[in-house]
Amino acid sequence: MSLARLILAFVRRHAWAYASAGLTLFGIALLTVWLPRQIGHLVDALVQHRLDRPTLVWELARLLLAGVVIYGLRVAWRLQLFGAAYQMGVELRARLYERLALQGPRFFQTRRTGDLMALATNDVDAVEMASGEAVLAGFDGTLTLVMVAGTMALAVDWRLAAVALLPFPFMAAAFWWISSRVHDASRLALERFGTLNDHVQETLSGVRTLRALGLEARSSTRFAQLAGAAADASALSQRWEARYEPAVGITLAVANALSLGLGGWLVWQGELSIGQLTSFGLYLGQLVWPMFAAGWVLALWERGRAAWGRLSTVLEEPLAIDDDGTVTPVQAGGLQLRGVSLHYPGSTRAALSALDLDIPQGSTLGLVGPTGAGKSTLIRLLLRQWTPQSGQIRWGGVALADYTLEALRAGIAWVPQEPILFSASVAENIALGRPDASPAEIEAAARLAAVHEDIERLPQGYATPVGERGVTLSGGQRQRVAIARALLADAPLLLLDDALSAVDTETEHSILQHLRAQRQGRTVIVVSHRLSAVMDADAIAVLRQGQLVELDTHEALLAKGVQAGWYAHQWRIQQLETSLDQA
Ligand code: ATP
Repeated sequence: MSLARLILAFVRRHAWAYASAGLTLFGIALLTVWLPRQIGHLVDALVQHRLDRPTLVWELARLLLAGVVIYGLRVAWRLQLFGAAYQMGVELRARLYERLALQGPRFFQTRRTGDLMALATNDVDAVEMASGEAVLAGFDGTLTLVMVAGTMALAVDWRLAAVALLPFPFMAAAFWWISSRVHDASRLALERFGTLNDHVQETLSGVRTLRALGLEARSSTRFAQLAGAAADASALSQRWEARYEPAVGITLAVANALSLGLGGWLVWQGELSIGQLTSFGLYLGQLVWPMFAAGWVLALWERGRAAWGRLSTVLEEPLAIDDDGTVTPVQAGGLQLRGVSLHYPGSTRAALSALDLDIPQGSTLGLVGPTGAGKSTLIRLLLRQWTPQSGQIRWGGVALADYTLEALRAGIAWVPQEPILFSASVAENIALGRPDASPAEIEAAARLAAVHEDIERLPQGYATPVGERGVTLSGGQRQRVAIARALLADAPLLLLDDALSAVDTETEHSILQHLRAQRQGRTVIVVSHRLSAVMDADAIAVLRQGQLVELDTHEALLAKGVQAGWYAHQWRIQQLETSLDQA
């Protein structure tokens, strides 16, 4: 969709605001052409000594009143229009946010966060200006131009008007040339601002690491370079925009010279009165605004177009995950994986290859294996963050892709290794998936996740603010708050992706015990590096290099012996480590 179409659709939806602003502008234009005519009559009456004092005062008062009314109307249309244009900004930001929320990891892997943030601020502002200021100033300028030029030709003298307007086509050509340069420079400025934003975002989120590695100076130098580059691009765009004004100035000077020359001759010939020449001069002066408006509108429009170009590529980028499914809610039953393979783009080997696995409803599956084996990948496939290139995953007999994404989100509670806490109270963080949960339910979930006592010890208990602007919780506490959140959501499938890694073995054991006691038909998949977390699972799957190499209970896997199985071998190592720690 082009910017013009976007704005046209918006204008249609806010027709009333634009129509009333347009009407106000029409009133202004009428008064604007009335003024010079009136002044011309006044000058002629004065020259011919036809004016007595009371009439002169009355005429001057009328002119003054017209000026005041024009001022008032100009304020009115701006107020009216800005409301509508801000609405455009709100709508675009909401669309962008919705779209970003639907995108999968593949999208975010190729986009920079800071740049996406710049889109939501700078670029949306530029489109907002194009839809408000530019549209109405364009309308106003055109209207004034047509009415003033028309009055000049019809009410004063058409020959004079034709000669005076001669330089204007040259100005139009200059404007066209300048505006194409403004477009390129604006695009560059917006892109560089995005890069700068990205650097700030990365630096702020990694500030501790930067300090620890002593990289502050290098980061500052890079910042200075990026800020300089962004400023240069903005200055370049401004330099091109600044050329609109001299183009207007030169055009008007030439038009004035031409009209004075011809106008003087016409007065000399007795074909034009001095009053008419005065009106004509005033009309010419009134063309300054449409000229400036044209330059301004073109600058805003080009900036808006550059911004919309960047915005629309993100808004129109197809979703990484299709949401074409229709089945909702998720059906009761187990999970069935058949020949599932996934190859990440740009990677040389498959992260998962031809995986077959059955996970009955209500059972707990332990998922283990060396690092990079594909455990998290399997979780991502179940969450539909990625779609397998081949094979199929069924849940309750229905293919995963046939469910609506919303049904899947509601059916799965997922706890990643590094959960995110938002800037809100602990209670709100736990109740994220179920904002209507009662304090008693929140506390029950916290007890199951073995975090209740920790929360009680916080300065304001459950009301303590956490997240970016609150109390800092330890890694283990964050993980347990996230587990409480998942338990409260009470979904039929619970995915713990190394979600207990920062919790000590004893607490881990107690959480898993609670989970078992409370599971009520819930299927649980526990990914862990620590085998003690999966030893009580109904089945344990061992992945190596994307392949399922062992699948059995803890006892059966141990029975294979350390020579034959990764699990038994790893178990022995971990047992030794534990006894060494205790020694
Ligand atoms: P860990 O125990 O370290 O968390 P894992 O078993 O969960 O490892 P995965 O994260 O599933 O392993 O990764 C499996 C393989 O896929 C690895 O070789 C990894 O480098 C690769 N991989 C993971 N995510 C991506 C991605 N987004 N793009 C490309 N390759 C990826």
